[in-house]
Amino acid sequence: MADDLARTFDVDLFVIGGGSGGVRAARIAAGYGARVQLAEEYRVGGTCVIRGCVPKKLMVYAGRFADEFADAAGFGWSVPTPTFDWRVMKARRDAEVARLEAIYDANLGKAGVTILPERAVIEDAHTVRLVGSGRRVSARFILVAVGAHPVKEPLIPGAELAITSNEVFDLESLPERILVVGGGYIAVEFAGVLAHLGARTTLLHRGDKLLRGFDEEIRDALDTAYAERMDLRLNRTVERLDSSGSGIRVTLDDDTTLEVDQVLTATGRRPNTAGLGLEAVGIEADARGAIPVDAFSQTRVPSIYAVGDVTDRAALTPIAIREGHAFADTVFGGKPWCVDHGLIATAVFSTPEIGVIGHNEDVARRLFGAVDVYRSSFRPMKATLSGREERVLMKVVVDRASDRVVGVHVLGHDAGEIIQAVGIAVTMGATKADFDRTIAVHPTAGEELVTMRSPVVTKHPVGVG
Ligand code: FAD
Ligand code: NDP
Repeated sequence: MADDLARTFDVDLFVIGGGSGGVRAARIAAGYGARVQLAEEYRVGGTCVIRGCVPKKLMVYAGRFADEFADAAGFGWSVPTPTFDWRVMKARRDAEVARLEAIYDANLGKAGVTILPERAVIEDAHTVRLVGSGRRVSARFILVAVGAHPVKEPLIPGAELAITSNEVFDLESLPERILVVGGGYIAVEFAGVLAHLGARTTLLHRGDKLLRGFDEEIRDALDTAYAERMDLRLNRTVERLDSSGSGIRVTLDDDTTLEVDQVLTATGRRPNTAGLGLEAVGIEADARGAIPVDAFSQTRVPSIYAVGDVTDRAALTPIAIREGHAFADTVFGGKPWCVDHGLIATAVFSTPEIGVIGHNEDVARRLFGAVDVYRSSFRPMKATLSGREERVLMKVVVDRASDRVVGVHVLGHDAGEIIQAVGIAVTMGATKADFDRTIAVHPTAGEELVTMRSPVVTKHPVGVG
C-alpha cells in the first residue's frame, strides 16, 4: 500500500459496470474529488433501468388495468370491451427507459465521471484494459460492479428455443401461449404480467410452492391466487423443447406435452465474472461465480472492491446502490460504513403483490424460540363491490421475549408500498406495543397491521369490523 501511495495513476477510481452499484459509487466518489472513469459495455443504467425493475414495473402496471376495467362495473361504470396493444406499450416503455438512460448518463457527466462505452477487464491490481480499444488505464482503486446474467437451468435439449428476461422485453407481440419456467421473483412477476395482459400462461416450477424462502402462508396464498389466474404446475420439470410447426412443443418430466408460442426461462442469475481477468490478480470466484468480499466490499486484493449482484449477497437494486455508496464514502470520503444485509425490505410485483421485511414465521421460530404471530386474512373493501374473489393476507411476527416485531408479511394491493413504510418502524426496532399505539388510518388495508390485538385469525372486510 505504501508503494501505491507513492505511485501516480491515470485515475483514482475505475468502475467496471454502469448499473445501480457502479453508477452510485462513481458519482459519490467523484463528488469527493476523485478522478473517476467508468466502463459500460451495454447501456448505462444497468439491469434495473434497462431490462429489470423499471420496464418490468411498467409492464406490471399495464397488466393490472385488466382487473381495473373488470372491477369498474361493480362501481357503476360501463366500460367498452378493452383491447390491449403490445406495440404501444412497448414503444412507450422503451422511450421511458431511453429517457432514464440519458438522465443517468448526464448525471455521471455532471459529476465529472468519464464514461467509456466498452467492455473492461482487469489486468493487474491497478490496471484495467478496455477490450474494444485495447487502451490501458491505471487506477488507484478498481470497483467491479458488473452485475449478473440470466441462466437457463437445467440445460435441456432445445434450451436455445427459450428466452430469458433479457429477451422478453424485446418481443414484438404478446405471445398467445407462453410457458414460464421457475418459481422465483422473475418467473412469478412475468407470469403474472403476461397472464394479465391476456397470454394463455403456464407457470411451471420444480418445487411444491412458488417463492422458496418466503413465509409459507404467503406462498400458499400466492399459489391459490395464481392457480385461479393461470395454469400453475408445481413439482414439474421440463425435459426438452422442440420446434413445432406453429411454436414450441414442451415435453415435461411426466411425459405430457404442451404447445406454446414462447418459453421464458427464469431459473436464476449468475455473476458476470467469466473472462473478467480475476485470475490475473488471484481473486477466486466462488462456485456460483461471485466475487468474495468483506463487509466493506473489499476483495482479497486491497485495491479492488466489488459491489452489487456480482458479489451475490442480495440481488436487489437498493442493495447495489447502498453498497456502492458505502464503498465511495469509505474509500474516498473518509466516512467508513458498511451495509447491513440482515434486514432487507423487498417486494415481489406479482398480482397480488407481496411485501416483506424481516423473518418469516418458521425462521423466526428457529431464531427466537417463542414468537407470537398476528395474522389477518380478509377480503379487501374494494372487492365488496367489484365482486372479485380476492384476499389480503397480513402477518406480524413478534419475538415474545423482547416484544420486538421481527417480521412483517403482506400479500395484497400495494404490499410493496405498505412494506416500505412499515419497514422504517421495523428497522428502528419497533415493538408490538409500538404498533398497537399507532393510530389506524381508516379505512385502509394497512390499518390491520396496527389493530391486530391477539394472535388469532380475523376474517372481515376492512372497515366492517
Ligand atoms: P447491473 O445493474 O446488472 O449493472 C452491471 C452493468 O455492468 C451492466 O450494465 C453491464 O452491461 C455492465 N458490464 C458487465 N460486465 C462489464 C464489463 N466487463 N465491462 C463493462 N461493463 C460491464 N431489483 C429490485 O430491487 N427491484 C425490482 O423490482 C427488480 N426487478 C428486476 C427485474 C428483472 C427482470 C431483473 C433481471 C432484475 C431485477 N432486479 C430488481 C434486480 C436488480 O436489477 C439488480 O439487483 C441490480 O440491477 C444490480 O445492480 P448491479 O449494479 O450490481 O448490476
Ligand atoms: P431466483 O433465484 O429468485 O429464482 C430462481 C428460480 O428458478 C427458483 O424458483 C428455483 O427453484 C428455480 N430453479 C433454479 N434452478 C433450477 C433448475 N435447475 N431447474 C428448475 N428450476 C430451477 O431467480 P430469478 O431469476 O427469479 O431472479 C434473480 C434475482 O433477481 C432474484 O433472486 C432477486 O434478488 C432479483 N429480482 C428482484 C425483483 C424484485 O425485487 N421485485 C424482481 C426480479 C428479480 P428453487 O426455489 O427450487 O431453488
